[in-house]
Amino acid sequence: MPADYYDLLGVDRNATDEQIKRAYRKKARELHPDSTGGDSGSEEKFKEVSLAYEVLRDPERRRRYDMFGPEGSGNQFGPGGPAGGFGDPFFSGSLSDLFDSFFGSSGMSGTRGRSGRAGPERGQDVETVMNVSFEEAAFGCEKDLTVETLVTCEVCSGSGATPGTTASRCSQCGGTGELRRVRQSILGQIVTATPCNYCDGTGETIASKCNACKGEGRIRESLHISVSVPAGVDDGTTLRLAGRGPAGRRGGPKGDLYVHLQVSASDRFSREGADLYAELHVPVPGAVLGTSIPFETMDGEEIIDIVKGTQSGHVIKLKGKGVPNLNGRGRGNLYITVIVDIPTTLTPEEEELYRQLAKESGEAVKHHSARSRLRSLL
Ligand SMILES: [Zn+2]
Ligand SMILES: [Zn+2]
Repeated sequence: MPADYYDLLGVDRNATDEQIKRAYRKKARELHPDSTGGDSGSEEKFKEVSLAYEVLRDPERRRRYDMFGPEGSGNQFGPGGPAGGFGDPFFSGSLSDLFDSFFGSSGMSGTRGRSGRAGPERGQDVETVMNVSFEEAAFGCEKDLTVETLVTCEVCSGSGATPGTTASRCSQCGGTGELRRVRQSILGQIVTATPCNYCDGTGETIASKCNACKGEGRIRESLHISVSVPAGVDDGTTLRLAGRGPAGRRGGPKGDLYVHLQVSASDRFSREGADLYAELHVPVPGAVLGTSIPFETMDGEEIIDIVKGTQSGHVIKLKGKGVPNLNGRGRGNLYITVIVDIPTTLTPEEEELYRQLAKESGEAVKHHSARSRLRSLL
């Protein structure tokens, strides 16, 4: 059950609009990163509180909330709380502005500051998939990746203007690249800056466009980049390469490149986090009498000691022979499950020995099969 909106704000159900507003301001200040150190828990809390306020400040939504609960108030806040991650689709409009005014654009990944510095627009964030082998994922690697991307036009150095000419200041925005709108809110004035549509936020207009890039300041190119894969990544890990995405228009900074890793399976190991699992096949005599068997770990050969009387299914733990932890601290373990191999074919001599063994231990066994009797005659 999502928390009650009145409880979230700490007001009672017949609180006045003014009381609700005051309660919200107070909560918002408490949950501000300056007072909490910016932990994600209070960020989540702030979202919940803001959402409660969004509903209760609106008389119509408040009325429906009182009657039908969260479903009736028209919010998308499911039982699990607000969805995290970038994009955060349910935050939009004024609420998002409010949020930015508190936490800055870094408070929510994927949200760009609306009141940020004027200038050419930043390039897009893009994503791609890269395949890495099981071993490369475990121990890390440098890998070349080819991406179709937008790079700064060399002819005009990204300005978009024909070399020798310059861009002139945009008359619409006076060169700031943004159009400002001032609005009153419960937190005081909020200045919303949107990119100038006349100059596309660049602050400049170009009379003579560069031929190579048609005034874009960037061109499409296939680029080889070297990706450093840290040790301990797993299938589905995403690497964010900041500033290695496409160039922005007219000299705008580069976006980010997100690389989703696809790790191929190993035919010898399975993996769970930093731990590895493998099997070791041991013949019957070795399991019964004890033996030592070489085993190829990810760090090279190890001699595995099989003690006398080892059972099939017995697990041997090799500490620290797993995959390095992604945080750089320590390694997981390697768990080797012993599989005692019961022979399915025997030489006549072996069969004779097993029969003697059965006799010795008083075990009733099946008689010679016709086939093995035939074999013993040859
Ligand atoms: Zn150009
Ligand atoms: Zn402009």
